[in-house]
Amino acid sequence: MSTIPGVCQSCGMPLMSPSDLGTESDGTPSTQYCTYCYQNGEFTDPTATVEQMSEKAGEIISKMYEMPLDKAIELSRMQIQNLVRWSGRVIPSCESCGMPLVSDHDAGTEKDGTPSTRYCTYCYQNGAFTEPDLTFETMIKKYATMFASEYGMPVNKAEQMVSQFTSTLPRWR
Ligand SMILES: [Zn+2]
Ligand SMILES: [Zn+2]
Repeated sequence: MSTIPGVCQSCGMPLMSPSDLGTESDGTPSTQYCTYCYQNGEFTDPTATVEQMSEKAGEIISKMYEMPLDKAIELSRMQIQNLVRWSGRVIPSCESCGMPLVSDHDAGTEKDGTPSTRYCTYCYQNGAFTEPDLTFETMIKKYATMFASEYGMPVNKAEQMVSQFTSTLPRWR
């Protein structure tokens, strides 16, 4: 499954199975985009903007996780603007918490002080996890509480959202 990037690089939908993938012009599955965004080597909506994508994704998230619509759109925009289609580059995400590593400033550090290409500054310092004993369950609780208060959603819905998202990250797979 290592060729699948985790989420569609246009809309941010999780790519969980081969049937979620779009198709290239020769009919082979896309390695970057979902079936709704990309068919036969072309975007289904070539004039779409980050704003339109965020509104569409926000509506889905808002219904699914009982999040106020404006907050859901804001959250979607944060994720979508970092995707390959819109940023023009692959922005790696922290393999522990999923935070996008947009600049060296966001990256953790290796033992020799160089920026980590895999983990963020909150998760990883001097070549080691800042919380080496952190379990998947503890992390879900921690982030769900944070999301619930920041985005005005019920804690149980926040737990669902966070666990779906983080279970795709390499540290927890
Ligand atoms: Zn998509
Ligand atoms: Zn992190």
